[in-house]
This record gives sequence, C-alpha cells and structure tokens, in this order.
Amino acid sequence: MSKLEINQLSKRFDDTAVLENVSLVIKDGEFVSLLGPSGSGKSTLFHLIGGLFAPDSGSITLDGEDITGKRGKISYMPQSPSLFPWRSVLDNVLLAQELKEKPNRDKAIEMLNKVGLSEYKESYPRELSGGMKQRAAFVRSLLSPQKAMLLDEPFSALDEFTRMEMQKWLLSIWEEAKPTVLFVTHDIEEAIFLSDRILILGDRPATIVKEISIQFSRPRVEDIRLSEEFLH
Ligand code: ADP
Ligand code: MG
Repeated sequence: MSKLEINQLSKRFDDTAVLENVSLVIKDGEFVSLLGPSGSGKSTLFHLIGGLFAPDSGSITLDGEDITGKRGKISYMPQSPSLFPWRSVLDNVLLAQELKEKPNRDKAIEMLNKVGLSEYKESYPRELSGGMKQRAAFVRSLLSPQKAMLLDEPFSALDEFTRMEMQKWLLSIWEEAKPTVLFVTHDIEEAIFLSDRILILGDRPATIVKEISIQFSRPRVEDIRLSEEFLH
C-alpha cells in the first residue's frame, strides 16, 4: 500500500498541451479508474507517473518520496506492452522479478496457469495471439514487487468472458494485498465493478473534469447496464 500524489502536473508535446495542472491523490490501497476520450492524455499521465519521461512542471510523490521522473518505483503495465521476442513467455514474466535474489518461478508458473497460458510457458511471443500477449504482460506486472500499480487498458484485447475472469482475479488479488491501483479503461462497467472511485479526464489540455465515488458495494458486473448519460 502506498499513497500516490500527483501535484499540478503539466505536459506538452511541441505545440500541443496534453496535460495541464492535473492533480490527484490516490489513497493507500485505493482502486481508482481513469476514463476519458481517446487522446485525452491518460497514457501520457501514466508515462509521467511511471517515470518514462519527466513532466514540464509539477511533481509526483509516493508515500511522501519524490518519484518525479524515476522509473521502477511503481509496477506499470503500458497500453501496448512489449514482450522480448527472443525470450520465452515464462522468461518474459520472470523479468519483473529481476531485482529479487531468487525469482519466484513457481509463482510465475501458477499465475500463467491461472490466465490460461499453461501450454504456452515455453513458447515465444510470436506464437501468441494479442490477447495471450496481453495476459502474459498482466502476469508480469502482477509479479512485480511494487505496492502501487498502473494498469493501462490491461484487458482491451480480451474477449468478454476472459475479460470477466481477469477482472475477478484482479479483484481477488487486490482484496488480499491491497495495492494502490490506478487503472485506465474505456469500459464504464469494468470501472464500476473494480473501483472505489472513477476519475474522468476531459479533452485536451486535460484536467480531471468529473469524479464519481462508488458508494455502493461492488455489484456483480453482469448486473450492470449503464447508459451514456452516466458520463454527462
Ligand atoms: P490516451 O491514452 O488518453 O488515448 P495519450 O496520452 O496516448 O491519450 O495521448 C494524448 C495526446 O498526446 C495525443 O494527442 C497524442 O498524439 C499525444 N502524444 C502522446 N505521446 C506523444 C509523444 N511521445 N510525442 C508527441 N505527441 C504525443
Ligand atoms: Mg492510452
């Protein structure tokens, strides 16, 4: 568990201001989903929090430590995760644990079994479908030892059934270890099923335009059908 604070973050690419003074606080062990139109800057915000590049201004702290521009402080599954083509699926997911003295191979195998990749442990990424690669990358980010996680549309390539299984699995992991999670999705039902709170990013330059607290206990995802009006 870790408290994540984003203070007045701004980022522009050439003439385009993508993020302008974005501030938010994610409490210890909170699960927050981030929604917003394509191109609004969700992935850019994650790149900044994950330390892939530095903001033009503003700062990011994790439990009070300034992590602005620092990599490796937060487990991060990017929107288009890449697996090393020359390594097997198992070796790819074990990379998340590189810093540990003894990579937990048994745990990695157990998790690959859980996401339906038991037959593909020794396969190479080129032999996997897009959805399988996404599940392998998901396992890799779950094996990463950090107490806070960024997941950028982690289930976008999955069919409805697999996606639901992954959502339930993620929730059970979260309920057990209570990592602090920031989750991007385009699926409002998914956000409601998983989150304590939903933040909506507006058009560029993006700021948080709306915040929705999920006051009710988590419903079963198959019971929810919401209209677009929910977003307005
Ligand atoms: P989202 O994830 O919400 O769909 P992105 O953060 O990927 O949005 O993109 C926000 C805007 O920033 C887009 O207009 C995109 O073209 C631009 N952008 C993102 N990364 C770069 C980059 N490295 N260089 C230039 N423009 C970028
Ligand atoms: Mg994105």
